[in-house]
Amino acid sequence: MPIKYIIVTGGVLSGLGKGIAAASIGHLLSSRLKIIPIKCDGYLNVDPGTMNPFEHGEVFVLDDGGEVDMDFGHYERFLGVTCKSKWNLTMGKVFDMVRQKERRGDYLGKTVQYIPHVTDVIKDHIKEIAREENADLAIVEIGGTVGDIENELFLEAMRQMKEDVGRENILYVHLTYVPIPYGVNEQKSKPTQQSVNLLKQRGIFPDVIIGRCSQFLTKEIKTKISRFCDVNPDAVITGLDVEDIYEIPIIFEQEGLPAIIHKKLNIYSPPDLTRWKTLVENIRHPASKITVAMCGKYTKLEDSYASIIESFNHCSAHLGVKINLRWVETTDLKDTSFLEDVEGIVVPGGFGARGTEGKIEVIRQARERDIPFLGLCLGLQLAVIEFARNICSLKGANSTEMDPDTPYPVIDILPEQKKISDKGGTMRLGAYPAVLAEGSKVRELYQAEVVSERHRHRYEVNPEFHGTLKEKGLIFSGISMDGKLVEFIELPGLRFFAATQAHPELKSRMERPSPLFYGFVRACLGKE
Ligand code: GLN
Repeated sequence: MPIKYIIVTGGVLSGLGKGIAAASIGHLLSSRLKIIPIKCDGYLNVDPGTMNPFEHGEVFVLDDGGEVDMDFGHYERFLGVTCKSKWNLTMGKVFDMVRQKERRGDYLGKTVQYIPHVTDVIKDHIKEIAREENADLAIVEIGGTVGDIENELFLEAMRQMKEDVGRENILYVHLTYVPIPYGVNEQKSKPTQQSVNLLKQRGIFPDVIIGRCSQFLTKEIKTKISRFCDVNPDAVITGLDVEDIYEIPIIFEQEGLPAIIHKKLNIYSPPDLTRWKTLVENIRHPASKITVAMCGKYTKLEDSYASIIESFNHCSAHLGVKINLRWVETTDLKDTSFLEDVEGIVVPGGFGARGTEGKIEVIRQARERDIPFLGLCLGLQLAVIEFARNICSLKGANSTEMDPDTPYPVIDILPEQKKISDKGGTMRLGAYPAVLAEGSKVRELYQAEVVSERHRHRYEVNPEFHGTLKEKGLIFSGISMDGKLVEFIELPGLRFFAATQAHPELKSRMERPSPLFYGFVRACLGKE
């Protein structure tokens, strides 16, 4: 069977959930097909690793160390695949490749142009991934909105693709917005018509239109969109606003999307959503409720912590509990009375000094008042600093990231990081294994001696202080294979006090929640 391609574009406005739509389509088709998700982003950064999570949302890290767009989180969670860094194609990478080819002399004698040279690089890269991975189907999501200058070259390349791979092997999906203006109370198709027109001007004629709407699209609006946009009325699908993103594949199935794709691409891969539906039902009808304080500094944009939010959703699906996340901005934190009303505390990852003293104070209270605590990356580092200051009496202990002149640098830069000056792609990135200590809580939760989690950091627990910290009772429940780096810590005698240098939230899945999050939530429920 030739490799099939589904191209997902978006229109009208950003933030309609193209990534989730692409991931949901993949989920519906994944029973018999090997699906590879590919994302094209129009920005000139080589990857999102150097961008502020405030602007761009979370930087997702893959096993291979790639720093990629947060949509890869959705792809992995919905498709059960382990993605690769190569599958995120940014315009920064494209230009890099074109420049390298030009310097090598691949274009000798030619004027290097957007078309065909840049578009060829894009198409070749996508086809190469699909071939290398032995994919049955590649789902290619084009970031941004049709009409943006940034994604024009990607759209042009996708237009050309149909000639290269054959019209019968490619399907174009366009996600738009169907508003119901206040006072009019009617679903409106004009934005969709205009957006599809923009797409058609670029030579792309969508096969399927997904209309994001607060209600199911009516038969009338589907007919209208079908007429104006030249698609079959059955191929106009509701992208319903939902409380919980995991409902989307269920809605798409209900709207008949799998059958349309099967027919157009001449494939058959019937969805089996039985287990998925049960898990979604658990999220929708929780038996209990807890509140967890998220103490960070990027709390204004929830996308900055997307994978943590999803990890909690996965726990909800398995434990039938509603987890209310309370966002606590720790910069200038004075009032800690919120701790009275929470069942647990998370200190997530972060960079730089701002907000760290507030987090250290929260961790002190978690330890002293025995409130379940989970520390992630920076959260581990700050828990070590708190322990050093208040239990080991190392006054002024700190990380050299926050205070380069600290008398007790209990957290220090990794030796191999010292000589690196470039900022892009140079942290300790990707999956690394850790050996878990026998008898530790962490080992009990993972039910394994060796575990692999993903990392993104420059600093670590300073080996000079390992002895002191251990003597005073801090348990190193996980260390790197060479025995040098502290990967997990915990404090015994408390309900739950554990932290990791890794980001376990990046590998949590709906069907398989992260053991550390799962144990933490159980402790918040009083079950551990
Ligand atoms: N800033 C810390 C470091 O670089 C923690 C990073 C993180 O939380 N991802 O080590």
